[in-house]
This record gives sequence, structure tokens and C-alpha cells, in this order.
Amino acid sequence: MAKYFCKFCGEENSDPASLLRNSCPKHPAGFRNGKHELFEGPEDSEYRCIYCGESKRVFRDIVTQSCPKHPDGFRKGNHVPYEGGTKSEYTCKYCGEHKSDFRSLVTSSCPKHPDGFRKGNHSPLK
Ligand SMILES: [Zn+2]
Ligand SMILES: [Zn+2]
Ligand SMILES: [Zn+2]
Repeated sequence: MAKYFCKFCGEENSDPASLLRNSCPKHPAGFRNGKHELFEGPEDSEYRCIYCGESKRVFRDIVTQSCPKHPDGFRKGNHVPYEGGTKSEYTCKYCGEHKSDFRSLVTSSCPKHPDGFRKGNHSPLK
């Protein structure tokens, strides 16, 4: 049976409607200030963080652990799961650079980053 996950807290349910009805303890607006939201990526053998490239086999482990490369600062927020699934190649949405290794794409700086030349890392297209 398919599994659906909340992209904030990792809550898992086989029925997406019942997931969306309930409030989320890790909602970005605050504890139970909003509902769970669906992770839109495929059910996969591995889930990857778009900031640091860390990968985990369990979805909940990605969204509940802090990220050393979070844009707000070192471990100021949790890993954010990539919604594109496993691919043979990953492409940067700013400059079009592509690499077969997800982590090496998201951990190297991007010449076309919106904040300026190499002011941030490549960001993967879905
Ligand atoms: Zn949630
Ligand atoms: Zn991370
Ligand atoms: Zn780039």
C-alpha cells in the first residue's frame, strides 16, 4: 500500500486525506498552527536533503534531524527533503549544471545563485 508523509514532521499515513485533516506539531507557523502537508516526492528507497545532500532510508529521519547546511545557519533548522526522487542525474535549477551525485551538486557553489555569484549552492530541479 502506498504511504504518504507529512513534509514537516514525517507523520506517515496510507490515507492522504486523513493526514491533511490533522494539525502538525512541526508546522513552520508553530506547534499545531497548521495542518500536515503532503511530501510530493515519490515513495523511495532513499530520501535526500536539498541543502546538505544527507540521505536517509527512513523519511522521518530526514525531517526530524537538524541540518548542518540549513540556510538559516548551522543546525538552525531540519533537513528539507528533496521531492524529485532518485534519478541518474540531478540538475541545478539556476545554472543547469548537472551531476550524477546529488550530494556533490548541492554542496558546491553556484555561479548563477540568486544571491550572487557563488553566494550559495546549486539547488536541484525537481
Ligand atoms: Zn506534520
Ligand atoms: Zn540537510
Ligand atoms: Zn547552479
